[in-house]
Amino acid sequence: MLQILIVDDSPTSRVALTKSIERMGHRPIVAEGGMQAIELYRKESPGLVLLDVMMPDIDGYTVARKIRALQVDEWVPIIFLSAKDDDQDLERGIEAGGDDYLVKPVSHIVLSAKIRAMQRIDDMRQKLLYLSRQLAVANRELERISHQDGLTGLANRRYFDFYLSQELMRAKRSNTVLSVMMCDVDAFKPYNDNYGHLAGDETLRKVAKALTGICKRPGDLVARYGGEEFAFVMPDTPAEGAEQLALNILRAVSDLKIPHAFSAVAPYVTISVGYIACNPAQDITTDALLLQADEALYQAKQMGRNSAFAFAETKR
Ligand code: GH3
Ligand code: MG
Ligand code: MG
Repeated sequence: MLQILIVDDSPTSRVALTKSIERMGHRPIVAEGGMQAIELYRKESPGLVLLDVMMPDIDGYTVARKIRALQVDEWVPIIFLSAKDDDQDLERGIEAGGDDYLVKPVSHIVLSAKIRAMQRIDDMRQKLLYLSRQLAVANRELERISHQDGLTGLANRRYFDFYLSQELMRAKRSNTVLSVMMCDVDAFKPYNDNYGHLAGDETLRKVAKALTGICKRPGDLVARYGGEEFAFVMPDTPAEGAEQLALNILRAVSDLKIPHAFSAVAPYVTISVGYIACNPAQDITTDALLLQADEALYQAKQMGRNSAFAFAETKR
């Protein structure tokens, strides 16, 4: 059942239309002029409008325009009912925002058929709106998933690479130091071999969670770079800050005290960190930057693991 707004200054027309609408099983609300029509439209939000053209206060074209202006994201069908049967009148009606134009007197059968047709269009439109909303939700979800690592919920490598290239450009523009860290869980192969892959996965999740706590600034990003490798992008973070954060990373993982009886480093799970605080004056690519962080990580492993190493120190 539709609530239908009848707008007509002629009492005879109003009575006839009201009866006709009631016979169709819809609910009529009635306005005697243009101003009242706009007021009622605002208050009642009808599903369809039957609009007379010639009225003493404001004409139907103006009413239609005002109603259309009120509708931001919605569409309510407007059918003009007029005694004027010129082609130009019809054209004006459609131009003003009407969806159909019927010449009075209109038979019950014609009006009823036209209203059904409008309802059909409205139904299709509602379905389309519903689907496009669903699609937008699905797209957002898809985008989120495409950025995320399934096991840990951290950013994945793809997003990390994108983020790093953005931040490297930004660092150059703003003349700030960008720090990048590569982390790799120590002795993770023996962990997996002895405790099993599922326990390994669980440990990666715990490590990931601990690493998330390291990133305090909104611009910081931690990602799962590969199997048991994690990587950080820390914008506007000079060497001293990076060193502090690298030590925090070591501590955060050690403090988890995840038992590891098969590590030569410690009786619990540890991690190694290689980092680089990139000077903005340096003309470096993201690949080269990652390679340097990786080299520093290799040095940290060489130093006995559970340690952090800065790339600058490896320079010969
Ligand atoms: P190092 O101290 O030099 O880093 O030694 P490592 O044993 O950690 O290094 P290696 O690269 O030889 O082994 C990495 C192992 O990490 C291989 C694999 O068993 C494990 N691994 C990699 N990805 C996953 C994963 O997604 N889940 C689990 N459970 N294990 C993984
Ligand atoms: Mg590794
Ligand atoms: Mg490892």
